[in-house]
Amino acid sequence: MSFCCGAGMLGSFGTVRHQQTLVHNVPILFCPVCNRIDVHPAIEGEFEILVEYAQGDQAREVDFSDFVSVDNLPDLFENCTMTDDGNYADVLRQQIDIALDLLSVAKALADHEWHAALKMRLQHLSQRLQNHNSRKEMSRYSA
Ligand SMILES: [Zn+2]
Repeated sequence: MSFCCGAGMLGSFGTVRHQQTLVHNVPILFCPVCNRIDVHPAIEGEFEILVEYAQGDQAREVDFSDFVSVDNLPDLFENCTMTDDGNYADVLRQQIDIALDLLSVAKALADHEWHAALKMRLQHLSQRLQNHNSRKEMSRYSA
């Protein structure tokens, strides 16, 4: 499992920008706390080839799933905490639930340091959720 910020990184599909090119539906790992996104290591090679191809073609946008069948990669997210099937908001909610559970454990153990860290994580997560929801609103109008 990949970790970042002490939280498990989540498997998902997302849009990755590489210089001038936007690549959609790329299998990624992302950190729900700091929003760091890594291209999934298993398809890094394919991703690079596609980006080179797109840049040679001067394409501004390409769809990863048009070029690589991710159905052939069933183990892709096996090591991840969970996958979100493209629903980022649900994953955030799940992470918030987990953090809330841990928070009550930390409280019961009177582990103040852990408690503070979890509270911080919760704040980040709910901020992300808010940002995500408002971005979704905006993209609905600009679409
Ligand atoms: Zn992180």
